[in-house]
Amino acid sequence: MNIKDNLSQIHQQISQACKQTNRSPEQVKLLAVSKTKPSELVMQAYQAGQRHFGENYVQEAVDKVAQLSHLSDICWHFIGPIQSNKTKLIAENFSWVHSVDRIKIATRLNDQRSSQDTPLNICLQVNISEEEAKSGVNLSELPQLAQYVSNCEHLKLRGLMAIPQKNAPISVFNQMNQLFTDLKKQYSTIDTLSMGMSNDLEPAIAAGSTMVRIGTAIFGQRS
Ligand SMILES: *Cc1c(COP(=O)(O)O)cnc(C)c1O
Repeated sequence: MNIKDNLSQIHQQISQACKQTNRSPEQVKLLAVSKTKPSELVMQAYQAGQRHFGENYVQEAVDKVAQLSHLSDICWHFIGPIQSNKTKLIAENFSWVHSVDRIKIATRLNDQRSSQDTPLNICLQVNISEEEAKSGVNLSELPQLAQYVSNCEHLKLRGLMAIPQKNAPISVFNQMNQLFTDLKKQYSTIDTLSMGMSNDLEPAIAAGSTMVRIGTAIFGQRS
């Protein structure tokens, strides 16, 4: 497995998907999801030019952040479910959080983010399929959560994140884009629709995603 080749293949796939829907490839950022993968592989991706990395498990991520702290322009994104006893480590170690889905978590991240640091970039995770057990804010509670985060001094509301179900119809992706477009009209800081993984990158880009989160197609299967 060659991470450099995988990255250039993903960039090609992104370009192709953009072309098909008349979008510019610069509008879609690539987040490399390195969960469960050692820092050596993150380093290989970094050396191939990748700068943004996504992690799901706090302790594992914090170890990697420390191991790679000499890379001053690496940017860490937390994308996993958030337990409230982990918010401090997240506030201290990450630049972005994609998985904020309740006010309690936003409050803690805001309180625990140091004022020396730039505000923590926040995407709100939407439970777009309205599944009982899934993480994400329900549609009815999204406006209130967005307003709350936009008023937090140490947080910066950047957009929305979703994990559509496997084989979700394109309408689900389009619905996310509609929510994103509506929210952008209300909050000037919003510029990010975090949507699309290894298996649904094309429909996500067709529906306006601005950041795709790719793990397997870059780093291989996770055990
Ligand atoms: C693991 C994960 C990804 C990457 O998934 P792949 O199918 O490996 O590309 C993206 N987003 C989230 C939230 C994840 O947990």
